[in-house]
Amino acid sequence: MIKMKKRQFKTESKRILDLMINSIYTNKEIFLRELISNSSDALDKLYYLSLTNKDIKVNKDDLFIRVDYNKDKRTITISDNGTGMTEEELENNLGVIAESGSLKFKEENKEQNDVNIIGQFGVGFYSAFMVSDKVTVESKSYKDDRATIWESAGVDGYTLSPSDKKDNGTIITLHLKEDTEDYNYSELLSEYKLRGIIKKYSDYISYPIKMEVENNRKKEDSDEYETYKEVITINSMIPLWKRNKKDITEEEYNNFYSDKFFDYDKPLDVLHFNIEGNVNYNALLYIPSHAPYDYYSKEYEKGLQLYTNGVLIMDKCSELLPDYFSFVRGVIDTEDIPLNISREALQDDKNIKLIAKSIESKVKNELLDLLKNNRDKYLEFYKAFGMQLKFGIYNDYGMHKDKLEDLIMFYSSGEKKLITLDEYVNKLKEEDKNIYYCAGETVDKIDMLPQVEGIKDKHEVLYLTDYVDEFAIMAIHEYKGKTFVNVTNESTDLSTDEEKEKINKENTDNKDMLEEMKKVLEGNVEEVKLTNKLKSHPVCLTTTGEVSTSMEKVINAMPTDEKIKANEVLEINASHKIVDKLKDLYKNDKDEFTKYTKVIYYEARLIEGLPIDNPTELSNLMCDIMANK
Ligand code: ADP
Repeated sequence: MIKMKKRQFKTESKRILDLMINSIYTNKEIFLRELISNSSDALDKLYYLSLTNKDIKVNKDDLFIRVDYNKDKRTITISDNGTGMTEEELENNLGVIAESGSLKFKEENKEQNDVNIIGQFGVGFYSAFMVSDKVTVESKSYKDDRATIWESAGVDGYTLSPSDKKDNGTIITLHLKEDTEDYNYSELLSEYKLRGIIKKYSDYISYPIKMEVENNRKKEDSDEYETYKEVITINSMIPLWKRNKKDITEEEYNNFYSDKFFDYDKPLDVLHFNIEGNVNYNALLYIPSHAPYDYYSKEYEKGLQLYTNGVLIMDKCSELLPDYFSFVRGVIDTEDIPLNISREALQDDKNIKLIAKSIESKVKNELLDLLKNNRDKYLEFYKAFGMQLKFGIYNDYGMHKDKLEDLIMFYSSGEKKLITLDEYVNKLKEEDKNIYYCAGETVDKIDMLPQVEGIKDKHEVLYLTDYVDEFAIMAIHEYKGKTFVNVTNESTDLSTDEEKEKINKENTDNKDMLEEMKKVLEGNVEEVKLTNKLKSHPVCLTTTGEVSTSMEKVINAMPTDEKIKANEVLEINASHKIVDKLKDLYKNDKDEFTKYTKVIYYEARLIEGLPIDNPTELSNLMCDIMANK
C-alpha cells in the first residue's frame, strides 16, 4: 500500500499560487522558461558538486533537459538528470517559496502589479500553475536512494508519495487546463509551439534541451516519403555573445541581428565586448543603419535584452540605455543580476546602473571612433539618429550636453557639408570668440537670408535645419570657450568702429522717419533702424533677446495654446535705393509712406518665412503702389 502524505502550503506560497492560477496574464508561455531554468540550475549544481566530490561522477556531456508532450493526456513533461530533490527538499522547496526565489510579494501591490511581475520576471516553479490544473513532480536526489512524487492541484495543498524512479533528476508533469475563451492551452501541445517557446526564451541555456520531433525522409528504393521520429537538441546552447569574436563571421552577426530584432537591413555597426570588473557582463550591441518607422514616436520602446546566465529575463530593459542612445539594439548577459529580480529592484539595482553607465561610454566611444575613422558610416548614422542626439542635449535642461556635444554636426556655409563643433572651433583664431549660426527650414533657405549673405564671406556660419537644433545650441550655450551667436540677432554686428559710427549717425539723422515707421507698425516691431549688415538686400527682420523668429515658428507650431512672439527689429539697408524713396515720401506723401512701410515689413516677414496676418492687405497695397507709379 502506498503511503501518501497530505500537506498544506504555507500562507505566502498560497498567495503566489493563487496569483498564478487566476492570472489573466496572456504571456503564460514563460512557465517553460522558468522550469527549464530550474532544470539548468539543478544540472549546474550537480556538475559543480562533481568537481569537488569524487563520489559524484558526472560527465558534463551526459547532462540534459528534455521536453515532451502528450496530446491525449494533455500533459507536458520537463525532465532533467540534475541534482533532484529528496522528500524533505520537495517539501521545503515547493511547499514554501524558497528564499532565493521568493518574489517579495506585497499584498498591497497585488492588484496593479501582478501582470507586470509575471510578465517581466522569474516567478519560478509556481508559474506552472498558470497553465496547469495539476502538477506532478517526481524526483530522486543524487544523495538519496529513495524517490518521491509531489503532486498538487492548487491552493488546497499537495501530497507526497514514494516513487520507484531509479536515476537522479526531476520529472515535472503539467496537466494542462481546459481551453477557455481567453487562452488556448491545447495550442501548447504541439512540437511547433514548444520549439518556438524554447528557442525564444531558452535558446542559450548551456545544456541541451532535447525533444522528440517528427521528420520526413525518403524511403529506400522508392520515391515515397515516410515520417520518422528522432530526438534532437532544440537550443543552440552557446550564445553568440559568449563566443570568441575572432570566430564569428559578419554574416553570423548580421543573421543574429535580423533574427532577433526583425530588421532585414544590415546593421551599421556591431559592438561585441566583455567587461570584467566591478560588474561583469557580455554585450552584443548593434547600431541600426536606419531609424525604425516608429522611432521618433511615442510607440517606440527602447531597451536591451537582458539575460542572466543565458536565460532571458527581460526583452526590453530600458534601464540599460539612456534616451539619447535609444537606437541601440542588443543583448546584455550578466551573472550579477538574480533571475527573479523584481521590476522595482531592477530600477534601483546597483549593477544595472553600473552596466548602463559602462554601455553608455562604450557606445559614445564607438561613435567618436566612427566619426574619426569612418566618416561615411558616421554620416549615415547621423542621418538616422542625429536628431535624437540633439534632443538628448536639449532634454533634462542640458544635463547631458557634455556627453553629446562632440557627436553633433551641422551644415557649414564654408565647407558646404556637415561638420562638428570641434571642427568649427579648430579653424578659429584665438581672438575669434563666436560660433555663428542661423536656423531655418532648409540649407537653401538659410543661405538666401540677407543676414547670412552679409556675414558668410567673413565667417563660417552653421545652418540649423532641424527644429530642435536651436534649442540644442542654446542648451550647449558655449563650446570650448566660444559662444554661439545667432546671425539673425539684432545685436550681431561685425562692423568696424568706423562703420559703426557712420551707421549710428545715419540712424540719428533719420530718427523721426524711423520713429514714424515704428508707429505705423505698432505692436509688430520693437524698432525700425538703418543697417550696414546687408550686402545687396533691402530689408531683414532681426530679433532681440532669447527668442528668434525660427524658435517662434517652432513653438507656435506645437499643439498648445501658448503662443509666443519674438521681439522683432525691422532693419533697412542704409545703402539701398529704397531709403532715398522712403525719405522722399516721408517728406512729401505720408499716405504713400505708410503703404511702403507696411509692404517693407511684410517683405521682411516673408523672407523669414513668417506668416502674413493679412495677405489681402499686402496684395492691395502692392497693387496700389504699382498703379500709382
Ligand atoms: P528558484 O528557482 O528561484 O529558487 P523556484 O520556486 O523556481 O525558485 O524553485 C524553488 C526551488 O526548488 C529551487 O531553488 C530548487 O532548489 C528547487 N528546484 C526546482 N526545480 C528543480 C529541479 N528541476 N531540480 C532540482 N531542484 C529544483
